[in-house]
Amino acid sequence: KKITIAIDGFSSTGKSTIAKQLAKKLNYVYVDTGAMYRAVALFVLNNGLINEAGEVKNLVEKLPEITLNFKLNEETGNADTYLNGENVEKEIRTLRVSNVVSMVAAISEVRKKLVEQQKKMGAEKGVVMDGRDIGTVVFPDAELKLFMTASAKTRAHRRYKELVDRGEEVTFDAVLKNVQERDHLDSNREDSPLIQAETAIEFDNSDMGLKEQFER
Ligand code: C5P
Repeated sequence: KKITIAIDGFSSTGKSTIAKQLAKKLNYVYVDTGAMYRAVALFVLNNGLINEAGEVKNLVEKLPEITLNFKLNEETGNADTYLNGENVEKEIRTLRVSNVVSMVAAISEVRKKLVEQQKKMGAEKGVVMDGRDIGTVVFPDAELKLFMTASAKTRAHRRYKELVDRGEEVTFDAVLKNVQERDHLDSNREDSPLIQAETAIEFDNSDMGLKEQFER
């Protein structure tokens, strides 16, 4: 019998890695909800919806203009994210997007739109979804909930390596700052803050390799 698996946790705790491993092993669909918030953040940047004070303006009335999709990339075997028909998979992973995404994700209307789509995507069992509010808001009835944790430094090192491997010019300090800022904003926003669901299993993978993590 297929179930719903909800994986939440702080930034760069390896949620997507374990979610992909599980989806592959179980032949489930994997949904990366962070990619959806990142795509909306990219829309904000591309349309100049941030003012000089760094506040997001006029996004809510433009939300109907935003369409998000996922499509399988035959080369990588993973789903790529599409914003209004354009493949934005690469762009949404940049530090430029990471630096504004939590601000965008704090807007209730944005969450409402994305949560609605996420509920539809996971309407049929056999889904692994990762994010910040999957076990608390999107699928509170998920049969299995994991809450991933790892030390801030471990997490920043992982994200730094990822960005450098992708050819982005970033400093470790800028990445660490971003990880800490996002955790703070995500945990303290009014709408659906990042908290551990009561029934979630806490999973600290600070000192765990990929194989060990998956076996656990
Ligand atoms: O998972 P990822 O780090 O790519 O998510 C980027 C950002 O999107 C998070 O820092 C958070 O602000 C937001 N997010 C969210 N709710 C989710 C998934 C992501 O608020 N379910």
